[in-house]
Amino acid sequence: MPSTHQTPVFPGPIHTHWQATAAAKGFDLIARIRDRHHLQLRCRTCGGGVTAKLFTLMRHQPLCPNCLAARRSAVATAAGVTFLSPDPDRRGYGRFRAPCDHVLARQFELIERVAKGQTGLRCETCHAEREASEARRFGWERLGHCPSGRPNYRLYRHHCGHVQRIAQANMLWGQCDCAGCGRGWNAKPSFLYLFRICLPATTDRSARHYLKLGYSAHPVKRHRHQLGLAKDAQVEVLRVLAMASGHLACGAEQAAHRRLTSAHPKAVVPAPELAGAMNVVREIYRPGLLPMIEAELDRIAAEADAQSG
Ligand SMILES: [Zn+2]
Ligand SMILES: [Zn+2]
Ligand SMILES: [Zn+2]
Repeated sequence: MPSTHQTPVFPGPIHTHWQATAAAKGFDLIARIRDRHHLQLRCRTCGGGVTAKLFTLMRHQPLCPNCLAARRSAVATAAGVTFLSPDPDRRGYGRFRAPCDHVLARQFELIERVAKGQTGLRCETCHAEREASEARRFGWERLGHCPSGRPNYRLYRHHCGHVQRIAQANMLWGQCDCAGCGRGWNAKPSFLYLFRICLPATTDRSARHYLKLGYSAHPVKRHRHQLGLAKDAQVEVLRVLAMASGHLACGAEQAAHRRLTSAHPKAVVPAPELAGAMNVVREIYRPGLLPMIEAELDRIAAEADAQSG
């Protein structure tokens, strides 16, 4: 049989049970190529050529790279990103373009979970920029990670010139007195916050992930206690936005909820689902809403900065 493939045809019989196996697995067996181990197949789904080992065909399911790429693209689209290519350096990872235009390297398995709405995806570059811009609002320049390597600390320069390391959790909530000039941040702000809440699996249900967007006049540091969460719940502070007053924060929060709820009603978690797991049952969202909530907070931050000049 003539092959359009560049690889030389290997002389030798093509057994009918090989052809039957190929057909059962979604391929036409076109030719034996290269050596006695290799076959040229054609994918019955997309018509694309596939090189496979005879052993792989007989023992496993050969994968069509075209169809695999198409599947990955479809999953990525459902997850809100664009599939670019497999990651050349890490097996099981792909490269994806996020809506912010940054390229993210993520496990395909994670993208699958994002597509199913089980978790959210966040761009680390944008996140670092948001951390930096929040710190600027408190008078600090984010220089980078802490030289000691402690993961929860960052290095900052105060506007007086003094450089010091500050726990990221403290900077998020504006609790950062400068050891150089002795000044803290004097405003009495209120905060919008975005938490990721993870409730571990129980005997009758799998682990659950939620997003909580809220407003508080005080740093919400004892999340578990303040939100009435079960002891085994995990809380991650995804974002904190300091606002000049409680009035502003509360108004911005309510407007954000109205917009999110009307634009994405399915992403609002119904209260009965949360019964017994936490005290707060309002303003809890599915993890897939993360980019939209981040965009809301970006917009609120930009407005607040414009108002304060
Ligand atoms: Zn195919
Ligand atoms: Zn980004
Ligand atoms: Zn200072």
